[in-house]
Amino acid sequence: MKIAVIGTGYVGLVQGAALADVNHSVICVDKIKEKIIHLNEFCEGKRNDLPILEPDLPRLVKENNDKKRLIFTTDINQAVREAKVIFIAVGTPSNEDGSANLTHVKNVAQDIGRAMNYESDSPIYKIIVTKSTVPPMTYRMVHDTIAKETKNEFDIVSNPEFLAEGRAVKDCLRPSRIVIGTSNAKAASIMEELYEPFKSREVSILFMSNIDAEMVKYASNTYLAAQVSLTNAMANLSRELGADWRKVLEGVKKDIRVGRFVYPGLGFGGSCFPKDVRELIHTMEQHRPDSDDLSYVKMIVRQNEAQKGMFLPRMEKYFSGFEGKKFAIWGTTFKPETNDVRESAGVHMIKELLLKGAYVSVYEPSGSEQAMFTLSLDEKLKPHLSRLSFVSDMYEAVRNAEGLLITVEWNDFRNPDFLQVKNLLKKPVIFDGKDILNPRQMKEEGFDYFSVGRPDVLGYSQ
Ligand code: NAD
Repeated sequence: MKIAVIGTGYVGLVQGAALADVNHSVICVDKIKEKIIHLNEFCEGKRNDLPILEPDLPRLVKENNDKKRLIFTTDINQAVREAKVIFIAVGTPSNEDGSANLTHVKNVAQDIGRAMNYESDSPIYKIIVTKSTVPPMTYRMVHDTIAKETKNEFDIVSNPEFLAEGRAVKDCLRPSRIVIGTSNAKAASIMEELYEPFKSREVSILFMSNIDAEMVKYASNTYLAAQVSLTNAMANLSRELGADWRKVLEGVKKDIRVGRFVYPGLGFGGSCFPKDVRELIHTMEQHRPDSDDLSYVKMIVRQNEAQKGMFLPRMEKYFSGFEGKKFAIWGTTFKPETNDVRESAGVHMIKELLLKGAYVSVYEPSGSEQAMFTLSLDEKLKPHLSRLSFVSDMYEAVRNAEGLLITVEWNDFRNPDFLQVKNLLKKPVIFDGKDILNPRQMKEEGFDYFSVGRPDVLGYSQ
């Protein structure tokens, strides 16, 4: 089937490559010329990295481009004219008030409608699929925007994406579910044909209305976000009581009614949970303004914001303030195996420490460019950036630092050379924001060790 994917970011690029891999003919479009040049140079072998870091994606892109099933262009007109199914996979960031910014979606809908007018004498019926995460009822806006531009026949399908960064290729090739939102039988049948190769004994296609499908995405992410914030609330209480949350968790997770996605940490980040929960709150404010339901969902966000900075008072007490002191941070991405730093705990902690007058030395395995770019956009930080350095060696980062803060569970951070870390730090102290190190071992190695959900360990200063 001929497919166009508009927006070649984390979702569009992976989805486009996965669709090509099952023998569809895919044109990926982006408005950023440099991104398309980058992708084409990668395919021609002139460079070996992609604009995003995602395991197995380089192979998938290269193989399918070689087979001429996956191409990249900035020309949306050509892509729309050739395609039967057009995916919208552009970003939907939050506005100041928490609502979803649908400017990109609307612009693309307009472009699609206009491009449809330039078809040959016998225009083909098209399906426009919203892959972007959009608030309930957006399908109507997309429909009306296109209908204003063209008289050609089309339908809108709402098809939310559930991939998780860091395992996006696996998630797209073997999805947990395929949700197709449409009340039109013809559109449903074409979408079924398109997704047929992804079906399996465990994975069936769930057909529903557009609005049901739009709600599935927000409800799913809010469930997961609530799970994370409740986990962190329990971890915080366990620590205060002297209990070990990781042990408690072993018991809790034996109950199959409790989700699997429950690990203590410095809150959730990334491009989805924070934004999607905020957008759901905005929708609730319109429809259930005075309800406890609204307060409940708002509390997920508040718990999470506090969790990102939960080490600050503990560090302040331990180090007797931050002014003029140097701290090492390992990791700025919001999780391992990605270069996405959006709303990450690492970036949050860098900002906080700089604003409190500290020097910060950072080691980041994959997203240092993105982190530096994000930090450079913050006006408040500009006068403080001279106290920030990114280094390319994890041990170099800890040299002469007062302490080390781990914000994300990259494998390299799980079992470092502790002797080297100890010798390079001014004082052997580690704040572990992912509870990845073993407290008993930390004591034996002579570290003071602070985690999220377990009692403090004083292996050095006791
Ligand atoms: P992204 O910012 O990585 O990519 C979006 C791309 O769209 C960018 O490359 C941008 O240049 C391009 N774009 C914007 N306007 C355009 C236009 N008019 N024409 C052509 N290209 C245009 O975003 P993403 O992370 O891929 O997310 C896309 C959507 O999918 C969002 O709604 C997001 O909430 C949702 N989503 C994301 C994930 C995830 O893990 N990243 C998972 C599920 C759903």
